Amino acid sequence: MAGRSGGRAEATPPPSHNAGERALRIGVLAIQGDFGAHRHALARLGAEAVEIRRPQELDGLDGLVIPGGESTTIRMGLETYALEQPLRDFVSGGRPVFGTCAGLIVLGRAHLGLIDIETKRNAYGRQVRSFESDVVVEGLGDESLRAVFIRGPWIEAVGGDVEVLAELDGRPVVARQGNVLVAAFHPELTDDLRLHASFLALAGAEQNNGRLPASRRSGPGKDEVPA
Ligand code: GLN
Repeated sequence: MAGRSGGRAEATPPPSHNAGERALRIGVLAIQGDFGAHRHALARLGAEAVEIRRPQELDGLDGLVIPGGESTTIRMGLETYALEQPLRDFVSGGRPVFGTCAGLIVLGRAHLGLIDIETKRNAYGRQVRSFESDVVVEGLGDESLRAVFIRGPWIEAVGGDVEVLAELDGRPVVARQGNVLVAAFHPELTDDLRLHASFLALAGAEQNNGRLPASRRSGPGKDEVPA
């Protein structure tokens, strides 16, 4: 789908997310949904964006995006391709994952459980299934982000380790727990790529530091697992 114009059209920062000499290599889960738009957004920010369908394709990635689409189909695809445990290992190893819309649902408690959120599918009801709104996202400056909701979920409940980064009508719509970032809308469909840029910053920190500090990781790290 062609990019809609966001409030900050063409304000995308120039490619600057190359950590060291090589571009960040970011996988986009390509089972179903709008993975192409995410690939395009990541490439505009200077990342090497690659489509992922098999567990072995996770090797060598600096991060992974799970796109919007149909969460039941994506979940069935994860089972079919035996990707669930490799994804859990990916996150517990410190590498960041960004889930948008259906990707948020898949990462939440009901499916992979990689972020401690309870989600409600198609939460905005039939009559307002798709709409746009402006949300201010913590850490991305005062300027609001144009958020495109397409039969989106909302977050009904968050666990204590989850940081809510944006809300709409009192419901969290952007949240983060350690190296897992989620948005209930479609940031890949506007020209305002600040959320993708913040995800690449997470991926770059992980690439540079080898591992995220324990406080920024989801789940127990190796050194935290009781013997
Ligand atoms: N309604 C979809 C689901 O529940 C999500 C919609 C989207 O990703 N745009 O899976």
